[in-house]
Amino acid sequence: MRRYSAFAIAREAARYHSGWERAWASPDPKKKYDVIIIGAGGHGLATAYYLGKNHGITNVAIIEKGWLGGGNTGRNTTIIRSNYLQDPSAAIYEKARGLYETMSQDLNFNVMFSPRGVMMLAQTQHEVRGYERTAHANALQGVTTEFISPTRVKELVPIINLDGPRYPVLGALWQARAGTARHDAVAWGYARACSDMGMDVIQQCEVTGVRNEGGKVVGVTTTKGQIDCDKLGIVVAGHCGDLAGQAGFRLPVESVPLQALVSEPIKPCMDVVVMANTVHGYMSQSDKGEMVIGGGTDGYNGFTQRGSFHHIEETVRALVETFPMVARLKMLRQWGGIVDVTGDRSPILSKTPVENIFINCGWGTGGFKSIPGSGFGFAELMATGYSPLTEAFNLDRFKEGRFIDESVAAGVAH
Ligand SMILES: Cc1cc2nc3c(=O)[nH]c(=O)nc-3n(C[C@H](O)[C@H](O)[C@H](O)COP(=O)(O)OP(=O)(O)OC[C@H]3O[C@@H](n4cnc5c(N)ncnc54)[C@H](O)[C@@H]3O)c2cc1C
Repeated sequence: MRRYSAFAIAREAARYHSGWERAWASPDPKKKYDVIIIGAGGHGLATAYYLGKNHGITNVAIIEKGWLGGGNTGRNTTIIRSNYLQDPSAAIYEKARGLYETMSQDLNFNVMFSPRGVMMLAQTQHEVRGYERTAHANALQGVTTEFISPTRVKELVPIINLDGPRYPVLGALWQARAGTARHDAVAWGYARACSDMGMDVIQQCEVTGVRNEGGKVVGVTTTKGQIDCDKLGIVVAGHCGDLAGQAGFRLPVESVPLQALVSEPIKPCMDVVVMANTVHGYMSQSDKGEMVIGGGTDGYNGFTQRGSFHHIEETVRALVETFPMVARLKMLRQWGGIVDVTGDRSPILSKTPVENIFINCGWGTGGFKSIPGSGFGFAELMATGYSPLTEAFNLDRFKEGRFIDESVAAGVAH
């Protein structure tokens, strides 16, 4: 596949853009692959990419029931940060954040990584103590964060209201190299790189059954026929319970709708990401000028990619008290995804009770930020049977009570 470059753009401009190749192929499935990954979201595609890049495994199919990136990966508010409390979380999220720094060069695809800084507001004494504790933990983990004063918050975000009607801003946990990236581009960049390595990205193909023989996986049944494999990775976010059921085991995961909305585009007014966990809302400004606003999860399990209406009202109410100018904005559109939430708010990257089936799920409201780190570790687990990055996130922790409690770090969606 030809490299994208300034010269390529100039060349194509001179010949009316007639020479661009398709970014990825759309092949029919083969009869058998070494590895099948179910789910062409960011985590599935990143896993395939690192299977090829780091382990030389390229006889791989990534099977997607819709279009690639059409699940949560293409529906999220793109916040990337690594200021988690527990050591295993800090390790995998910081690995991911580091890989985002060079992802555009690595994939030769501009994912528009923007390390503009993310702040999590502390609006109660409890939050102040929680974030100060996280800042100390991050210092020990090698993750650069700091607890900043309200004055510094106002300097960084002039449109913020420090004295809200319900909760004042008492400070914030600030990570200067955190930020955002273009979500579709992350999926497209990985898909192009996987296709370039000879892997098959098969869209519009739903997995309807997982075939085991003698406790070992042998393949899947799909809407395009049976496909055999030696190893299977289930990476389907909110649908993981369904696929695990097909494979014959259960997961401690609940699926819930989570939604977001964007305003009409306006002139640049905020160049960092702000999360307000107590009032529950978060906001950043996209390159097009829209204010990207995230809300909370529905209070009940569900599979509707919409979310309930009262959450929009609650989210906007939280945003209006934090940023009064939001009251004058028209909202452009709203959408939802189905997120997979575990009891300890940490993901599952694990072997399963069925030999050679591996599961990557439970990223809940915050898995966009972890895509490259998750793919790196999960590929290592699938290829070699062990990864230091994923070890703590195995399924057994729920049996053994070794929870990785991130309910504070993941308190607000993403
Ligand atoms: C509104 C919203 C805002 C969010 N904001 C953030 C944020 O700011 N920062 C952050 O870090 N995270 C955020 N997240 C979470 C993040 O989007 C997810 O954790 C992450 O995208 C999960 O990626 P994935 O690859 O695991 O899943 P997905 O991107 O959902 O991919 C799974 C794929 O599997 C496919 N699939 C399912 N069943 C089958 C089947 N039977 N056969 C074949 N294919 C199947 C689906 O079609 C889907 O494309 C947000 C999520 C939502 C919904």
